[in-house]
Amino acid sequence: PYPLLEVDDLKVSFPLSGGNPLRWNRPRVHAVNGVSLRIYPGETLGLVGESGSGKSTLGRAILQLEKSSGGAVRFDGLQVTHGLTSDIQRLRRQTAMIFQDPLASLNPRQTIGAAIAEVLRVHRKVPETAVAARVSELLALVGLAPEQADSRPGALSGGQCQRAGIARALAVEPRLMVADECVAALDVSIQGQIINLLMDLREKMGLAILFIAHDLAIVRRLCDRVAVMYLGRIVEEGPAEQVFSLPRHPYTAALVAAIPDIDPDLPLPAEPLGGEPPSPIAIPAGCAFHPRCPYARPSCRHGPTPETRHFADHAFACVLDRNTGEAAVPFD
Ligand code: SF4
Ligand code: MG
Repeated sequence: PYPLLEVDDLKVSFPLSGGNPLRWNRPRVHAVNGVSLRIYPGETLGLVGESGSGKSTLGRAILQLEKSSGGAVRFDGLQVTHGLTSDIQRLRRQTAMIFQDPLASLNPRQTIGAAIAEVLRVHRKVPETAVAARVSELLALVGLAPEQADSRPGALSGGQCQRAGIARALAVEPRLMVADECVAALDVSIQGQIINLLMDLREKMGLAILFIAHDLAIVRRLCDRVAVMYLGRIVEEGPAEQVFSLPRHPYTAALVAAIPDIDPDLPLPAEPLGGEPPSPIAIPAGCAFHPRCPYARPSCRHGPTPETRHFADHAFACVLDRNTGEAAVPFD
């Protein structure tokens, strides 16, 4: 199948805020540092990693909401980084984003119905006579009653608000949705409902989803494939069940081992994740994970960034392979 989204060697960096803006070598934050990935139609790709790893920036850069400083994004075969305005508009019409805090994307003074209607008029050019019916249809799709069209966001619960945010996102009839921590702020039972809703929409609409989350248990439940991000790079990527059952990168292994209800019989035990949370300002040389990696060799500290190694559809960027036993013993 043909990928819906192709990201090649994408880079996003910003000057560090503060300091002298005229200094030519002002320190930069390398939030996304050479990411390549594919998303196929109807597929859900989980993007995981600790906060500060660049997940949200990558999501926004894919949707052209953030300027990239290198690399390319193609949507449905058309280049959108430095692309034609018409191709970027087409991307805007066929993609949508939902956030952790749905209130942030909904206007508190506007009713849910009015917010959805606005998207239908502006982006879908839906004729006035058909707007109300389409609003009810979208509300039904996300499990809200038609009367909710008259509610303002403040009158809804957190879960209802997220449903309203999803209905608004669906109004553009997206082919790709970027969901950034969209259940992180909800109670566990409501989280489950929203995840079921996304699974349902994926089925009904063939929607592709980039699901950004730090909660691996949810990702394991929802996603077909998983990409693991560390300091702006993808360090492992593969089919979800493979990444969760046989993580090959020590960072992934540590994240998987920390999932509360994970199968305790992982083939290889993993060292828990220690050390300082990463700062994207001063990215360590060599393998960026080396200060926290129990298997780090001298070459990991001083050598080049590890190449990405491919095993069929599973890829990882580490000089060792946990699954050959090569890295079974911590190195000191
Ligand atoms: Fe650890 Fe070296 Fe692999 Fe990096 S390349 S994850 S430091 S063993
Ligand atoms: Mg984030």
